[in-house]
Amino acid sequence: MKIPLDDYAWGVAVANELVATSPTVRADGDGLPGLSALADFLAAHRLRRDDPPTDEDVRQVHFLRREVRGIIETETADQAVAGATVLIRRAGLPPILERDDEGRWEWRVPTTPEASLADELAALVAIGILGVVRTLGHERFRPCAAPGCRGVFADVSRAGRRRYCMPDLCGNRVNVANHRARQREGTLLR
Ligand SMILES: [Zn+2]
Repeated sequence: MKIPLDDYAWGVAVANELVATSPTVRADGDGLPGLSALADFLAAHRLRRDDPPTDEDVRQVHFLRREVRGIIETETADQAVAGATVLIRRAGLPPILERDDEGRWEWRVPTTPEASLADELAALVAIGILGVVRTLGHERFRPCAAPGCRGVFADVSRAGRRRYCMPDLCGNRVNVANHRARQREGTLLR
């Protein structure tokens, strides 16, 4: 696998959604319980491998998920960089300069040919995290603002105002709660 260094948003999307599959975050249990869920996750993130994932891959990805969460929860930028550096070293090789489809030069980090699926994901996520620290700053790593949600995420939006780990789910939960609160107030006032 070759990971473009400029495309850190790709690795961040994988990091955010990987962490959001954890039973720590989801009320309905593990979002990556087995092989088919992992295969779907890879397809959703444009991650193609020659061999289909194995049970060992699932186990390793669960471990990686915990490590990634730990990095997003770090208190300082230096800690986040140190954590991501450990991840990239698992399979990352020195960067190479190659032409993209339109002939422009692009920095890419290749991974070792024998890298496991989790090692490749580790490199991709690490490039995402390092890109956030360098380009946007460590304050872009945050906990989810939805009450009771234990999600964490990296915000790569332009404005930097993302509040929820799963915008569709957590944002919606907050809207429903606010709506109910307004209804209750309405009842009291009458
Ligand atoms: Zn959340």
